[in-house]
Amino acid sequence: MRIVLTGAAGFLGSHLTDRLIQEGHQVIGLDNFITGDEANIAHLFNNPAFQLIRQDVSTYIDIPGQIDYVMHFASPASPNPASPLGYPNLPIQTLKAGALGTLNTLGLAKAHQAKYLLASTSEVYGDPQIHPQPETYWGNCDPIGPRSVYDEAKRFAEALTMAYHRFHGVDTHIVRIFNTFGPRMRLDDGRVVPNFILQALHHQALTIYGSGEQTRSFCFVTDLVEGIFRLMWTDMHDPVNIGNPNETTIRDFALLINELTGNEAGTVTLFAEGLGDDPQKRQPDITRARELLNWEPQVDLRSGLRETIAYFQTKIG
Ligand code: UDP
Repeated sequence: MRIVLTGAAGFLGSHLTDRLIQEGHQVIGLDNFITGDEANIAHLFNNPAFQLIRQDVSTYIDIPGQIDYVMHFASPASPNPASPLGYPNLPIQTLKAGALGTLNTLGLAKAHQAKYLLASTSEVYGDPQIHPQPETYWGNCDPIGPRSVYDEAKRFAEALTMAYHRFHGVDTHIVRIFNTFGPRMRLDDGRVVPNFILQALHHQALTIYGSGEQTRSFCFVTDLVEGIFRLMWTDMHDPVNIGNPNETTIRDFALLINELTGNEAGTVTLFAEGLGDDPQKRQPDITRARELLNWEPQVDLRSGLRETIAYFQTKIG
């Protein structure tokens, strides 16, 4: 198949590209490199199965020839805007990638009668009042809060995807991606995995925001890619959660990173009151993925983190 994948130079996009090519498909990767990294796809530059188009997905996309599948993964990641670490928040670009980028990629799929897959997010559940979160939960989001540029763009993207499915008959799929980690994460995206690993490798105290009692459930990237790959070929049009249900507090997560890196600098509390809009709990209910895709995460947190720490070590030299 000839597959268009936006965000191909990103963390998830580049791993997906590798998997699709490994399965014998042709990939046309789009990226404007505002947060993507050429190093993630440099190994594909001489591969005839891969073609790179440098383009911002919020502008009209015109690709000649047959297209069988369009996958929309382009978006800046969503570090909390209050995070003192990481690249600057990209609010307008985030909204445009989720809104205009979804419109343009759906239009491309419709024009080519291609199948479509949207990379959505657990952020559509906001600060959830139901735990763990099944796909049927409508979420608890602040439409004007600091995270809204990401949450609302993705919620709009889901609505638009369903509209193209219902009104234009496009064969669409939506994956709701929970916290994922692994090699090729940006070192400076401001999120907890790169922050903690870099701090640990530099023998610094890990910066815990608030009490550290807030939870996340971390999925290793190869598990995520497997789940998405299985979802691509189903008839499921409603969203499917893909993530690892193994939930940990951020404090325990910090202790684990310090243990795995041998960091003795401990932890330090930033924002004693916590960040106002920080979701306090997050764990995917993966019943739907289990039943529909016969999918289950395989990589445990420790092994995934060891691999990720090794990658960060090569990056900082
Ligand atoms: N966090 C933290 N220290 C950091 C970065 C993040 O304690 O240096 C916390 C953050 O407040 C949140 C959790 O880790 O509760 C996950 O944050 P991240 O930005 O990685 O992702 P998201 O909130 O989107 O799940």
